[in-house]
Amino acid sequence: MVQTMPVNLESLTNLAKRRGFVYPSQELYGGLGAVYDFGPLGTMLKNNIRAAFIKRFVQEREDVVLVDTAVLTRQDVLRASGHEQSFSDPLVECTVCHQRFRADEKVPEAKDHEHKLAEAKQFNLMFATHVGATKEAGSLAYLRPETAQGMFVNFKQVLDTTRIKVPFGIAQVGKSFRNEITTGEFLFRVREFEIAELEYFVKPGTQDKVFTYWIEQWEQFFIDYGIKKENLKRHVHPKETLSHYSKGTTDLLFQFPMGLKELAGVANRGDYDLAQHEKATGTTLQFFDEQEKKAYRPFVIEPTFGLERAFLAFLTEAYKEYPYGRGSDAAVGIPTSPSGERRNEEQEIVLHLDPRLAPYKVAVFPLVKKEKLPEIAQKLVQELRKQWFVQYDESGSIGRRYRRADEIGTPWCITVDFDTQKDEAVTIRDRDTMKQERVKLNKVSDWIAKKLER
Ligand SMILES: [Zn+2]
Repeated sequence: MVQTMPVNLESLTNLAKRRGFVYPSQELYGGLGAVYDFGPLGTMLKNNIRAAFIKRFVQEREDVVLVDTAVLTRQDVLRASGHEQSFSDPLVECTVCHQRFRADEKVPEAKDHEHKLAEAKQFNLMFATHVGATKEAGSLAYLRPETAQGMFVNFKQVLDTTRIKVPFGIAQVGKSFRNEITTGEFLFRVREFEIAELEYFVKPGTQDKVFTYWIEQWEQFFIDYGIKKENLKRHVHPKETLSHYSKGTTDLLFQFPMGLKELAGVANRGDYDLAQHEKATGTTLQFFDEQEKKAYRPFVIEPTFGLERAFLAFLTEAYKEYPYGRGSDAAVGIPTSPSGERRNEEQEIVLHLDPRLAPYKVAVFPLVKKEKLPEIAQKLVQELRKQWFVQYDESGSIGRRYRRADEIGTPWCITVDFDTQKDEAVTIRDRDTMKQERVKLNKVSDWIAKKLER
């Protein structure tokens, strides 16, 4: 049995960069601190995580609707929500080198001097900008630091334009921005990121039960998509560390390469946000309960996770290094390629991603570049591409092509060989078990669809 080695953050970062999952943003110009771009494969993986969230929590449910609200947010919205006053971290600045640090975290030592830290002050994490051509006082706006306020300010509109009733949720996936003081650890803490979350509105008095329900739902989502249960841990926030809007928060921690850290969270926001927006605008933000013949302001349970952190968690869980030879041609019973090519890698990387999250579902290889095998393979590729992202690869030995596909998490590789013309069938090889199956050409797409069904 082959031994796998534990993953470190550097290996993940290297693979992500080398295979086009993630690049430091604007690297051509030296990069922008803690801002990343997603490359071709990363964009596909991130899209699949987003789609999994929407499928599970919107499409498959009766009680949740999806919105997509603006990033640019009026100053008074974020004043009413409390962010303008309280969305900050304590900051200390060194009077010698002028580097800034979070006062509530350990300050790293400098090489050439001892930091002389000034008194801590509160630093607001929101990015401010101006809307319109003139820079008047009234035009100040912020890039939203969370997507939640977009749901709260549309609470009335959603109630008025749909037939949804409490309890119900408004879901959103979208960009958010925080000018973090300390960053690093790859995608873990970034300044521009995507949040996937729900504001779930409930009748006051029922919030504790719903809160527990959503923690379980959140945990199950990650487990169903490949995170091992033993790598997740719940963390109940003590009162003194709660956000200004929260009556209670439970985080879901994950065993990242750099330690056990926050992956997702569920907060009980009470009726704080709706009450604040009611007060600021004079508009009643309540739900009229037809059965009880009375109106009330719902309480809100907010399950949330960062897409980049989920991306990092799924990569961490999926990444395995095997000693040289796991996928060798001989080991998988494939004849050595005519070129007799040998590989010289030290180890083999496999991303054991859930097939639903994998960027490419299938890779198709003609065994050789002759005898019409490429034509048959291309025809199959064209057919499968109507449903999924499919890669075509005809260069190098089959073993090498398997390894290229394994490294980016492609669950199935299909080989068109000399027998294909006779038996109208191809060999499908499984990334994880390396088992091979002979499948009729006209059954391939059903075979894949069935595998992806969950
Ligand atoms: Zn210093």
